[in-house]
Amino acid sequence: MTTLDDLPLRDDLRGRSPYGAPQLDVPVRLNVNENSHPVPAEVVSALEHELSAVLHDLNRYPDREFDRLRSALAHYLDGVLERQGGPAAGTAAPERTDSVRSATENTGTGRIDPAQIWAANGSNEVLAHILQAFGGPGRTALGFTPSYSMHPLITASTGAVWIAVDREADFGISVESAVAAVREHRPDVVFLCTPNNPTGNGLDLAVVEAVLAASTGIVIVDEAYAEFARPGFRTALTLLPDHPRLIVSRTMSKAFAFAGVRLGYAVAHPAVIDALRLVRLPYHLSALTQAAACAALAHAPALLATVDALVEQRERMAAALLDAGFTVVPSDSNFLLFGGIAEPHALWQDLLDAGVLVRDTGIPGHLRVNAGTAEETDAFIDAVHRVLESTP
Ligand code: PMP
Repeated sequence: MTTLDDLPLRDDLRGRSPYGAPQLDVPVRLNVNENSHPVPAEVVSALEHELSAVLHDLNRYPDREFDRLRSALAHYLDGVLERQGGPAAGTAAPERTDSVRSATENTGTGRIDPAQIWAANGSNEVLAHILQAFGGPGRTALGFTPSYSMHPLITASTGAVWIAVDREADFGISVESAVAAVREHRPDVVFLCTPNNPTGNGLDLAVVEAVLAASTGIVIVDEAYAEFARPGFRTALTLLPDHPRLIVSRTMSKAFAFAGVRLGYAVAHPAVIDALRLVRLPYHLSALTQAAACAALAHAPALLATVDALVEQRERMAAALLDAGFTVVPSDSNFLLFGGIAEPHALWQDLLDAGVLVRDTGIPGHLRVNAGTAEETDAFIDAVHRVLESTP
């Protein structure tokens, strides 16, 4: 039987494992940071309408520049910036800074130009485009680990070398250690993930600014979970006007409850967007994807209405875990990293046997669980108690 070893595979891909979060059929799935809430009926109707309007034209290639989607994303981000108090760094943060509660109030002040927007099939593809353009053979990308497991995989897939720098014991990054790492390694690309997956904590913008000042390369701020952040979180979008090497990447997979559509996006200087155009495959965003994403953005408040509920469940889970004797990393995301576990894989298996799928991300002594519906929280807390009671 032919195996991978028999194929003329690239040497640098030999021995590597693909991304592989288990997709198991269990009652409660809290392992890939999805949004457990289904798409609301009013958005389903809008999607049906938008999608049926493009069906007759599927004989044609889609809009290669996805202009309408670009404008819709820019408009959404204008609202985010407006609630954050404008693009100037250091502006006082209002309550629930990145909150979507007032998304309806977006007046569209034109802070983000559509020419600054990029989009692709999930932010994973956005990141791949960035690494194809700015990474590649002979180059390096640096990240602060533990962090999102796809950052090194995407880096390596372009032939660039991955440099991992340890986070502090509390999973934070200090300005001093970030600057020292960037000065030592002089990477072509730096990844800063905030809120960070799998630890959940956000990053002080001072770290992003310090890394931008210390580096000469591209700085990617991966903000996949920004909408779930606690009051005081500041988005790196506010730094864009002064930093042409900064790219802020986001997604509709989490807060928008739209993971199945595959729509991620990035915001940067228009010259950076021109660079991404060099590596994307022609017509990479299907007409169906563009139509679905535009319909969703037109109904952003309805889709984002679950954010507050998920934050509430996250805090319920945190309290229950602390109560049960675990440690919990304070979270700005829709998930929690909890620790103080003697044998994480055994607990992962016990919870799975109790019908709840969580994630073993390989961090010693820790597991990760994402917030879901109130019923899923009940099931998770119940499973934790049952497992603890049956463990001698
Ligand atoms: N960035 C981070 C930090 C993530 O956790 C994820 C998804 N797990 C992604 C990017 C990619 O998400 P998507 O491709 O669905 O946009």
